[in-house]
Amino acid sequence: MAVTVVGSIAFDSVRTPFGERERMLGGSAVHFSLAASFFSEVRVVGPVGEDFGDEQLAVLERRGVETGDIERVPGGETFFWRGHYEYDLNTAHTDETRLGVFADFAPKLSPGSRGAETLFLANIQPQLQQQVRAQCRDARLVALDSMNLWIETARDPLLAAIAEVDCVILNDAEIRELTAEPNLARAARTLMGLGPRMVVAKRGEYGAALFTADGFFALPGLPLEDVRDPTGAGDSFAGGFLGYLDSQGGEPDEAALRRAMGYGTVLASFNVEQFGTERVAALTREEVDERLRSLHRMTQFEAIPQPAR
Ligand code: AMP
Repeated sequence: MAVTVVGSIAFDSVRTPFGERERMLGGSAVHFSLAASFFSEVRVVGPVGEDFGDEQLAVLERRGVETGDIERVPGGETFFWRGHYEYDLNTAHTDETRLGVFADFAPKLSPGSRGAETLFLANIQPQLQQQVRAQCRDARLVALDSMNLWIETARDPLLAAIAEVDCVILNDAEIRELTAEPNLARAARTLMGLGPRMVVAKRGEYGAALFTADGFFALPGLPLEDVRDPTGAGDSFAGGFLGYLDSQGGEPDEAALRRAMGYGTVLASFNVEQFGTERVAALTREEVDERLRSLHRMTQFEAIPQPAR
């Protein structure tokens, strides 16, 4: 089993009420890869500039991520994002985005990356997501993320990309904006009408909800007392969710989907405890499973007593 991901590979400068960092390793594909690496083989696709060092590559390689499809562009500049958060850590405010080497990137995947069973089109220009989707015809589970920038500047290519995937993973506000539908249940239904059979609505610290044709399952976020930087939480969620599903193979049943939601929640919770990739890069599988057990103990959905008829 293997997961291929295309998305931003970035330097992030981030300010939160708890500190700030300049040019940390980041990007949607990086946060996703680190999280998914606890469950399955991960192959990351995308360009970086000359400013991207072996030190950054090593963070991925130490977690066993296959980096052969990361292309270093001579004279190029790595994708750069600057953002900040107010006390409401659920909303990221973008101060600057520089596409750098992504502006003229034409993805050409190696046979190994094309052959992955699971594909994640992480947040990046929808046109690039479409090009990668077209090269991975055999993937049995394809998911996509995006953000307000692309909803507002590349809406049609984004809708075309969504029509080609099985699962959409977006923030609840992005789902509402994309569908122009204020009611989340209806908005999820609208997205499924375009093609996908699953929609995951991420709700920041409040958790995440999964909509399927005839099902609904929501998990709260873990009640953390130390949150420093939410950047990458969404991608870490997607990495835990899809990495676990990939590791199970075949068509996921309801139990696998619920456990995948649990692993997504757990990886996102570790991600926000430190800046950038610091926490997830140093994590162990034992810590991941221990936290999934805590989440299970805290939520105990199966234990809600049935009301008398
Ligand atoms: P999230 O998981 O939603 O917090 O995503 C955080 C990551 O998204 C950061 O590491 C940024 O580098 C990356 N990012 C920010 N803006 C964009 C964009 N327009 N396209 C692709 N990636 C982005």
